[in-house]
Amino acid sequence: MAIQLPDLPYAKDALEPHISAKTLEFHHGKHHKAYVDNGNKLIAGTELENQDLESIIRKVAGDASKAGIFNNVAQVWNHTFYWNCMKPNGGGPPTGAVAQKIIADFGSYEKFVEEFKNAGATQFGSGWAWLVLNNGKLQVTKTANADTPIAHGVKPILVVDVWEHAYYLDYQNRRPDYLATFVEKLIHWDFVNSCLA
Ligand code: MN
Repeated sequence: MAIQLPDLPYAKDALEPHISAKTLEFHHGKHHKAYVDNGNKLIAGTELENQDLESIIRKVAGDASKAGIFNNVAQVWNHTFYWNCMKPNGGGPPTGAVAQKIIADFGSYEKFVEEFKNAGATQFGSGWAWLVLNNGKLQVTKTANADTPIAHGVKPILVVDVWEHAYYLDYQNRRPDYLATFVEKLIHWDFVNSCLA
């Protein structure tokens, strides 16, 4: 049971004009695929070979001798989660349980947006900005490189990829514009609600 590259949950051009088919072609077809291929090479013949992604991530997290496995396998998980966090004609204020929980834990939707965009914009270099459930409370966090809330016992419910490969073809250096578009046009709130449930 090797690690698989899942199909995108939509067509490559489905997120245009916000994220181009060209970006998804490289991001999914090259970057995500490379993490899958490298992860499989690194776990082949080891006790990790037949385990699920989250188990592997938790087992190797913090072990410097297994950093290569962690980086590739966590990136496989993070990217699959990221694709599911987006949909065509998404974004804008949420509905459902997460809408009420955002107001309860952040004060307002606007305050959540401010914190989430700020986390993405201030992640120095490569990484991810997250909405997580930590001890029953929603929080915005950011992680560097491949790091993931899965390794820290915190439940992710939304993520945006802020590695340059996620946005450079479409936005060049304008990461804040990419983040604003993600929030206003792309977030798949039904998926976020399913993660919260
Ligand atoms: Mn990426």
